This record gives sequence, C-alpha cells and structure tokens, in this order.
Amino acid sequence: MSNVLIQLIDELNAGRLKLIDLTRPLGPKTPVIELPPMFASSPGFSMQTISRYDAKGPAWYWNTINVGEHTGTHFDAPVHWITGKDLSNNTCETIPARRFVGPACVIDVSREAAANPDFLLTRERILVWEAQYGRIPANSWVLVRTDWSKRADSKDFLNISKDGPHNPGFHRSASEFLAKERDVLGVGVEAVGTDAGQAGTFDLPFPSHSIMHGAGKFGLASLCNLDQLPPTGAIVIAAPLKIVDGSGSPLRVLAIAPA
Ligand code: MN
Repeated sequence: MSNVLIQLIDELNAGRLKLIDLTRPLGPKTPVIELPPMFASSPGFSMQTISRYDAKGPAWYWNTINVGEHTGTHFDAPVHWITGKDLSNNTCETIPARRFVGPACVIDVSREAAANPDFLLTRERILVWEAQYGRIPANSWVLVRTDWSKRADSKDFLNISKDGPHNPGFHRSASEFLAKERDVLGVGVEAVGTDAGQAGTFDLPFPSHSIMHGAGKFGLASLCNLDQLPPTGAIVIAAPLKIVDGSGSPLRVLAIAPA
C-alpha cells in the first residue's frame, strides 16, 4: 500500500485532515428547479416503503425511490445540454471515474451575492482570485461560494418573482475562461442550478450549461458547506450514480481539507 494512502487515513483519524460533506439532505422537501409552463418539469423526490419489518418483509426495511436526475445536490453530465450531446463519454455511465476527483478552488463571492441575488461571476473576478491564490489548475473543481445554501426556506432558496427566479450564476466570460483557458473538471454552485436564475434571458441563454457542457465539463448544483473549505488545498470527490444514458444524478459530494 502506498504511504500516502496510509498517511491519508492517519491524518483523518488524527483530525489533521477533515472530511466535509458538501451534500444537502435528499427528501420530499428538497426544492426542484421550476421551468416556464411550456416546458416539462422534473418531479422532486418521493419514496414508497416496500416493507418495514412487517408482513411484506418481516426482517427487512427497504423503499422504492422516485426522483428526477437533477434533484437536490446533483451532478450535470455533458449530455445534459444540447451542446454536449455528441461528445464521447458524456453520460453518467461513460465518464471515466478518475474525472470525478480533483483539487478544489473555492471562490468566495458571498458578499457580492448577499448584495445582489443576480450576481454573475466574471472572468475578471476569477483573475482577481487567481492573483491572490494562484492559477486554477487543469482538472480542478471550481466551487463558487455564495452562501445561497443558507437560505433554509425553499421559497427564499428558489427566490422566484413575477419575472422568474433570481439567484447568482456565471457570466459567459467566466464559463469560457474556465472551460477553455483553465480546462477545469467542472463548476459547483450552491443554488438549484449552475446558471443564474435569469440566465434564460441572457444574450447566450444559460451560458454555464451551454459552454461548460459543450466543452465536456461537469456541473454540481445545490452544494452546501462551501464556507468550511479553504480557497485552495482541499480535494473534492463527486461521483454520480452510474446510470446508463444518465444526464445527471443526485450524489454525495465529499471534500477532504486540512483541519
Ligand atoms: Mn442539473
């Protein structure tokens, strides 16, 4: 066994490294993205008991679950968007597992998002972050901390007004920069989707989905506990269910960081 793996467990056991769960609970109350009425909508999470130590199964408990792929803390595969539909290895089943693990770069824009729910991360803002913390390495996860996950009420989390939802997202300059100039694994956000609430009205609609997935990159939505991560120095493991032809899946996102 490699020394580094023995050391990893030793450091976790000694509390010098900590494991941080970036996942929100998945249940019937999990908020789901709302689309304009002309589009089909995704069901949320529901669960039916098969048996629970009863006549249907005297010694065992198990359930059936029904859930849209893009519910709660979830993974977006490149095939999720039309721009990524013809790429190779673009589904949950076919993405090489190595690509689920990478270093985390955490960009804290919580102050900007508190002041403006429509805040967009720009290329310029990322360059400011890089000047402070260093260049974003290839094959890293870029996680955008907005503290949006602290909006405990679903109404505040989805933040829908008459003109549609309002939540932070990406300016196309940021998505183009991360996909093409930094070659990241993908981006992770705290809101219900990787694009801003108003992104359907943008000049290039849904730039994060369109650009990132078109470049074979991944998305992570509805993350939490990003405030427990350092700007650099953590690793993230984000492995979706191996759904055949899957466009995404709920998943458990784990980070390992210095304590
Ligand atoms: Mn999604």
